[in-house]
Amino acid sequence: MLYAGCHLSNSAGNLAMVETAVSIGANTFAFFTRNPRGSQAKKEDPEDSAKAVQALKDHNFGPLVAHGAYTMNLCTAEASAREFAASILCDDLRRMAALPGNYYNFHPGSHVGQGVEAGIDYIVQALKKALEPGYPVTVLLETMAGKGSEIGGKFEELKAIIDGVGSDEIGVCLDSCHISDGGYDIVNDLDGVLQEFDRVIGLDKLKALHLNDSKNPFGSHKDRHELLGEGYLGEQTFQNIVNHPVLKKLPMILETPNDLPGYAREIALLRNLQK
Ligand code: FE
Ligand code: FE
Ligand code: ZN
Repeated sequence: MLYAGCHLSNSAGNLAMVETAVSIGANTFAFFTRNPRGSQAKKEDPEDSAKAVQALKDHNFGPLVAHGAYTMNLCTAEASAREFAASILCDDLRRMAALPGNYYNFHPGSHVGQGVEAGIDYIVQALKKALEPGYPVTVLLETMAGKGSEIGGKFEELKAIIDGVGSDEIGVCLDSCHISDGGYDIVNDLDGVLQEFDRVIGLDKLKALHLNDSKNPFGSHKDRHELLGEGYLGEQTFQNIVNHPVLKKLPMILETPNDLPGYAREIALLRNLQK
């Protein structure tokens, strides 16, 4: 069974997201835990979450992949802003406990000129504080395009964070647009890229995928998502992904520039590409 879905709005609550997902043929989805460009979070509704958990079970959903706010930069330069970001991470993880057994993905951060090493250090400190053993949520670091001072454009940087944190509750979400933009050639050598991932990080840490085509060629460090099959990656790359023995079991989240009917079409496309 392929677990495919897309980003959904959480404005009507958790159960409504499950219902929307079912209506477009999805059996996983992503959502922002709070305003993606601000920090405002929704009021918690335990009854709604309990109904959502039951609906996810009833419809045999795969793991969900929540997304932290873009504004949450754990390695920003100013100490008070860093602390605020770290407090948001803690609050997000605590909120995710209402939907146990799922993933919380976020962008590791941008070091804004402090250097990769210093940035990684701050990210590790924040994660160490936020993660508690036995917590029912696994944190995923997203592979980034390496735009500006972004951390996570190289597998080695993610590995350094994972080793620094030293917890089992941390993994990686691989974004197809980002890694191609970041200089990993998944168009011509998907297997080679996965071997590199395994050598540096370990494929046991790979927990989820963001499936996006890219408006830009390999190594561009741009991060502009395109509809599946209409960008540099092309449909063949996604066919290779959904049929790959390692990747086909992972939740696949679309973040393409799309509306719901468009997402429904892309989810159907992914299922059709599976042999
Ligand atoms: Fe992301
Ligand atoms: Fe992504
Ligand atoms: Zn992106």
